[in-house]
Amino acid sequence: MDIAVIGSNMVDLITYTNTMPKAGETLEAEDFALGCGGKGANQAVAAAKLGADVMMVSKVGEDLFAENTVKNLQQYGVDTRFVSVAPGTSSGVAPIFVDDQSQNRILIIKGANAQLSPADIDAAAEDLRRCKLLVLQLEIPLPTVYYAIDFARQHGISLILNPAPAVAELDIDYACQCDFFMPNETELEILTGLPVSSEEEVLRAGQMLLGRGLKNLIITLGSRGSVWMRDDAVHRVSPTPVNAVDTSGAGDAFIGCFAHFLVQHGDVAQAMQSASAYAACSVTGRGTQRSYPDADTFHRFLN
Ligand code: ADP
Repeated sequence: MDIAVIGSNMVDLITYTNTMPKAGETLEAEDFALGCGGKGANQAVAAAKLGADVMMVSKVGEDLFAENTVKNLQQYGVDTRFVSVAPGTSSGVAPIFVDDQSQNRILIIKGANAQLSPADIDAAAEDLRRCKLLVLQLEIPLPTVYYAIDFARQHGISLILNPAPAVAELDIDYACQCDFFMPNETELEILTGLPVSSEEEVLRAGQMLLGRGLKNLIITLGSRGSVWMRDDAVHRVSPTPVNAVDTSGAGDAFIGCFAHFLVQHGDVAQAMQSASAYAACSVTGRGTQRSYPDADTFHRFLN
């Protein structure tokens, strides 16, 4: 295996409606769609669609969504031997309400993701040890994230930590043990308590984190592109100009693609450039995983 993602999966329950019901009221909504998401699964799928060998360590609930989640990952070629059922729990779900202005209202129920434990990492240890890169996010319990970081360090495996969603109590000492720390600007703001409206402010907040001992900090800035900070060096990657239709999951597309190319050739600036183009391509289509291009589509997009 090239890459192991230890992280979340979610089922998006998307209701299209312009009116939210009041307490005690029942309303009819216009439409409904089911989608596969979760930051961990999204990143695994992005890397797998590009041709990486990816395994996932994740938890599904004891419900109808579990089989669908596993099938979906397998359909994209993700190894699901270590996606296991947490008895007596629901799968992670995200009821999402979208109005005709494309405004989202999202609830997250972590469900089985909250049960992913160090024992699940131990169960996959033999396979994990052979991976070149571990990718982590924060939709699973923090002690499990810390255990995975210790595991990777013990076995000399490279690590990406995407601190999403931002958790203010994240122990920065653990973050410092990761090779790449990859927040978006909102997460950077929450983690530092500093404003991030201008590029100057982003760099100042980034410097504060670097000052605490981070090795490589890569900040994604939506339509403003991304920036890699290390010691005193700053490397900017301009966004790839596109007509954005739906930006959900862009950050996950960026990270999955970055992970793939980092493992392929180890050139960080080049991997960021590819990730920037890949994420841009993904925002030109609707949905999350289904908007991620496979290797052929991505190749055509680049040419
Ligand atoms: P998140 O999905 O976590 O909020 P961002 O919004 O920072 O992540 O987007 C991740 C990356 O996707 C950006 O760094 C950029 O490369 C790309 N991207 C996002 N939105 C656009 C856009 N409108 N045009 C071009 N690229 C975009």
